[in-house]
Amino acid sequence: MNLLAVFSHPDDECGCAATLAKHARRGDQVMIVWTTYGEMSSKFKGVPHAEVKQIRERWARDVAGIIGAQHRFFDMGDTRMQGSREEALQLAQLYADFRPGAIITWDDKGGGTFTPHPDHRATARIAYDAVVLARLPKALMENQDLDDEPEAHRDPVNFYQYAQYGTPDPTLPLVHVDVGDTIEVAAQVYGYYARHMHGQQGEFPLERFKVGRAANAHHTGTPFTEKYTVKRMYHPTIPYLL
Ligand SMILES: [Zn+2]
Repeated sequence: MNLLAVFSHPDDECGCAATLAKHARRGDQVMIVWTTYGEMSSKFKGVPHAEVKQIRERWARDVAGIIGAQHRFFDMGDTRMQGSREEALQLAQLYADFRPGAIITWDDKGGGTFTPHPDHRATARIAYDAVVLARLPKALMENQDLDDEPEAHRDPVNFYQYAQYGTPDPTLPLVHVDVGDTIEVAAQVYGYYARHMHGQQGEFPLERFKVGRAANAHHTGTPFTEKYTVKRMYHPTIPYLL
């Protein structure tokens, strides 16, 4: 199975890092895609864009290495994303190449403290639109100098959106991924960003992180979970209810 995480800014993936690491350990191909370099962060005040890109690339290599994932950046512009067809097409071309069976991204409808960022809503939107565009060879040919028609990605895709920040879309089913085995990997990623962005040391950020994951898992019977709402374009049949 190929698993793709599509986010707006480096560190957005902290909410699914343990899920990604778990799939990587199982032998799945895992890729993290950031649609921007997160250049608006006050950390990069006065830093030229080319330099921000270099720093972000270096950190991305470290973070992807911790998780066991590949990574890729687009440069759609921090706070400048439109949720447009052109943006979705860039992702669709990546989908046709990487052929994800599952995608994780932001929630474009639910309330909460993180989704109001316009890039997060736009990213969730183009991540979903790209599933449709990736099915159309003619769309995939656009803006590309290709001799052969690319192979469209028409396999079913399970589409997961963050449900752990604020109020998830109540019309969608919710799943918890048991991440007890890989919570330490996610904590390492969280700690990496905390150190590089804020210079924080010590255990405080790590403890806060774990409290959040444990709160997710409330009533699930497992110590740590990461939770998502699920959109399916096709609904599989099940043999029995239980
Ligand atoms: Zn973000």
